[in-house]
Amino acid sequence: MTATIQIKNLPQDDRTNGWFNTMPVPAPPARVLEGEQTADWLVIGAGYTGLGAARRLAELRPNDRVIILDAGRVGLNSAGRNAGFAIDLPHNVDMADIAKCQRQTKLNRAGLAHLTEVIESHQINCYWSKRGKVHAAAVPHGQKSIAEFAKGLDGLGEPYTLLDAPALRARLGTSLYTFGIHTPGCYLMQPAALVRGLAHALPPSVELYEDSPVIEVSYGQPVRVKTPGGGVSAPKLILATEAFTNAFGFLQGRIFTLFTFASLTRPLTDAEVMALGGEPDWGIIPGTRGGTTLRFTWDRRILIRNSLSYEPQSRYDPARIEGIRAKHTRAFRRRFPMLPDVTFEHTWGGSLCISRNRGISFGELASGVYGSICQNGVGVAKGTISGRMIAELATGQDSELLSDMLTFGPPESLPAQPFMGWGVRARLKFEEWRAGPEM
Ligand SMILES: Cc1cc2nc3c(=O)[nH]c(=O)nc-3n(C[C@H](O)[C@H](O)[C@H](O)COP(=O)(O)OP(=O)(O)OC[C@H]3O[C@@H](n4cnc5c(N)ncnc54)[C@H](O)[C@@H]3O)c2cc1C
Repeated sequence: MTATIQIKNLPQDDRTNGWFNTMPVPAPPARVLEGEQTADWLVIGAGYTGLGAARRLAELRPNDRVIILDAGRVGLNSAGRNAGFAIDLPHNVDMADIAKCQRQTKLNRAGLAHLTEVIESHQINCYWSKRGKVHAAAVPHGQKSIAEFAKGLDGLGEPYTLLDAPALRARLGTSLYTFGIHTPGCYLMQPAALVRGLAHALPPSVELYEDSPVIEVSYGQPVRVKTPGGGVSAPKLILATEAFTNAFGFLQGRIFTLFTFASLTRPLTDAEVMALGGEPDWGIIPGTRGGTTLRFTWDRRILIRNSLSYEPQSRYDPARIEGIRAKHTRAFRRRFPMLPDVTFEHTWGGSLCISRNRGISFGELASGVYGSICQNGVGVAKGTISGRMIAELATGQDSELLSDMLTFGPPESLPAQPFMGWGVRARLKFEEWRAGPEM
């Protein structure tokens, strides 16, 4: 590996994120890195993984100075742009390896328990609520995958409730769905408020600098990085940079970026809530992969998330947003004909770091450089716990959870371009077509 690398591919999270823009208390001005600093630990990336790692470092090494650098504002990153499901169970239960799914569930639950503890002790107002989640299907293919999920939950010994069309309508208001399943262990929340709250609640030995992109890294002892306004030297570096990790010289040809898109309505009026019916505060995961995720929030907004696009440069063309919003509007009207006057106030895109085999890169990437990379689109619980575990690994701890974490395989090699691009785009198109009315 080259000793010094210029980081050319930087995150460009725009300000369109509806969760960030509807927070009752706006984010204070960013603390930007200035001048040359030395620290015991440098963490790059302030999403769930980086914040989890930094907090665990502070617990284990309270006298060490920990610096976190992020290219943008916490809450404008994927950690603050997501659909707000903090998920305990694997989406797909691999019947051939139930023990692996049990380990993943145990780790996710440890992540959720940790988040619950920090949210409660620091009174983070992010509407953290154990509402569970509903997987709902409107097409035979989706129904089949939900039935398989139920079998997998039987194998794991996890509780669930199957829901028929009237039960789904009674819970969710919409009559689109014909078959569903409720699992009780998922938390729903406001992701930008959660991740900003986590950043605000960091222990005093951790300093967070935002709007401070790392533009150059020199590996060695110590590791040195440069930002536009300063630099940091530290003997140990933790990367929590998801797909941008390629720019740091790691995991090329093993991870890739998908973008997905969300829209948020204005709050519904009392009359609209009555017309919708159903329960307050719910979340739907689609039965088919290419389908639509939905939330009805504590403040009576409806969120729609669908559409995936393959973006090797880890950015999307903002000109696409109008088309995406039109697609979200169609998905909304199909589900909620009783809400004809409700429109979207916010539409945004956000990135997911994906590997072909759902593998995670967890461990020492080079001497003194650690990483927990590739949360495969479900990073709230997974990122939190794997961040905590990478701090344990880097400080030489030994724990049952860390041993479990170390059993997961790394991301497999991806096909070479242009086959990779053709393959992923064709697959995404097919999944969207197959979702039919679940889109
Ligand atoms: C629309 C959408 C819906 C989603 N829904 C869910 C959901 O409901 N539940 C769920 O669990 N997950 C969901 N996800 C995925 C989830 O948001 C991610 O898996 C999670 O944010 C990953 O956390 P992370 O901390 O590892 O990485 P990120 O949150 O991506 O944070 C990485 C950080 O690294 C920083 N960085 C990168 N390069 C540099 C650099 N050069 N210098 C400084 N900083 C840098 C970035 O600015 C960023 O803040 C969704 C994602 C999207 C986009």
